Amino acid sequence: MNCDILSTLYVKSNGEILCNDDFGERVSLGSCRQSADDPDIHQTLNNDRYQNIREALKNDRTPWPEVCENCSFFRPDEPYSNDLHQKRIIQKIQIEASLACALKCPECSNLIQIKTRSGGRHFTPEMMADLLGDLKENHYQIRSIEYCGQGEPLNNPRFPELLATARKIYPDTLQRVITNGNHDFAKTINSEYVEETVVSIDGAFQESYEKYRVKGSIAKAFKFLNDAIACQKPKGGIVVWKYVLFETNDSEKELLEAQRLGDEFKVTRLWFVHSHTKNRSKKYTYDNPHTIPIQFSNVKIDSHPSYFRHAITINPDEAPHKITGNDSIKCMIAVDRLVIHENGSINISGWANSQAKLSHVTLEVEDQEVGDLAFVVRRPDVGKLYPVFTEVLCGFDSLLPPSAVSIKPGQVMNFHLCSDKDRVATFALAPQVKVIVPSQVPNRIAGDNSVVCLMHIDQVLIYKNGSISISGWANSQAKLSHVTLEVEDQEVGDLAFTVRRPVINEHHSVFTEVLSGFNSLLPPSAVSIKPGQVMNFHLCSDKDRVATFALDLN
Ligand code: SF4
Repeated sequence: MNCDILSTLYVKSNGEILCNDDFGERVSLGSCRQSADDPDIHQTLNNDRYQNIREALKNDRTPWPEVCENCSFFRPDEPYSNDLHQKRIIQKIQIEASLACALKCPECSNLIQIKTRSGGRHFTPEMMADLLGDLKENHYQIRSIEYCGQGEPLNNPRFPELLATARKIYPDTLQRVITNGNHDFAKTINSEYVEETVVSIDGAFQESYEKYRVKGSIAKAFKFLNDAIACQKPKGGIVVWKYVLFETNDSEKELLEAQRLGDEFKVTRLWFVHSHTKNRSKKYTYDNPHTIPIQFSNVKIDSHPSYFRHAITINPDEAPHKITGNDSIKCMIAVDRLVIHENGSINISGWANSQAKLSHVTLEVEDQEVGDLAFVVRRPDVGKLYPVFTEVLCGFDSLLPPSAVSIKPGQVMNFHLCSDKDRVATFALAPQVKVIVPSQVPNRIAGDNSVVCLMHIDQVLIYKNGSISISGWANSQAKLSHVTLEVEDQEVGDLAFTVRRPVINEHHSVFTEVLSGFNSLLPPSAVSIKPGQVMNFHLCSDKDRVATFALDLN
């Protein structure tokens, strides 16, 4: 079990440190120092509340029952990891620079928080200097500082001072501002460098934009976006237009217009983001991410973090190795992260560089093209590590559609580094997934023999994080509701019937139910599943177990 909070520090405008920016906002983990007698940050990060989170997650318990289950950052399938404590690395400090906001977006908790939270409405540069100074003295590395919370960061009248203070104490740390853009860029950012500016503009037309961004002006937001592009891009900053998909802004006309404008403005990226709110787009959802009409390679499809709960994240241990290409030309590729979503789409981020000019990377699995990775992320770190490369725009971060082939051993991922004319080199990477295709069908070991039941397991995939994906079918003369998998008397999870398997009924005419297939991802269990173990599958009706089948993985 894992959670982002162990690599994130979420600080409110009044200096409170809360259990991240979602349902966990109701759990206080401490606060910034008010006086020299208060605990320093290292003591806070090791207080009883942080220790409760660590102990609970390590032992597969939810740290805050009835809170974590509702929290977008809860990762029940991920193995426990704890950067903050072990390595003193904070991936992200999220600062709520201000709790004030002039907009009245209907799903935002801003108004309630203004009424219920005590203390300062604006995080001050003095608080910032003390917090970062404290972290520095305690030898913490900080990878990024993000200005975002339940208010609009640029409503903080001293916002440029916050940026400057952070730059002075942690000069190499990436700073990211997430804003509604209804501000004067010169007054709120001034000449400060911001590595990532994300402007939330949910719409391309004022009429639909203001349905969610109530009291917002799209003209002001576009002006801010353009000013950010003019000021930050020449310095190496990236500027993102973030467009959350709602029912009110998801016409094809509007999505195409946003892309046209994004191209005209020269935004670094345009993100279309699936929302989890009631008014989310029902046309373009997490389950059909590639139906969005995309016209430009800088468009990225993303989803609210709550959708990632059961995704499988693989951080490859090794770099892909070169298998073809002219050896006189230096080429390299690194895959930072692969996220295999529940819906089958794959997010891949990393970088590729070469002495030859590259146009994109094509991913192939089993000789089938899965998709292209466009270079849309500036990666100055690559040139610093490998001075032979001069191209800075060498990073990719793309969502590829579900492909006909699943990614498993023996089906190596081939990355073709392509120029405009041809393939410069090919690199291969074998992801860490074990596959078992059982050589026999499960045996029935319990159940009323007068009721015909059958089942078949097509494939078991075991991922490095311990989660397993099982596909197959089960059918019965009795009405089944689901299949429960048990290994060594411990319940691993339930397999729901989500796949129609009409061919089964053709072969076994005794069955009338067509929706008999499953293809489920189950979280890592206390027992690891490996060859030699017996899996027990209980075919269940609404009331009881109809039959049990056993499968020996040998
Ligand atoms: S899942 Fe639980 S521990 Fe993690 S951020 Fe949410 S509330 Fe906090």
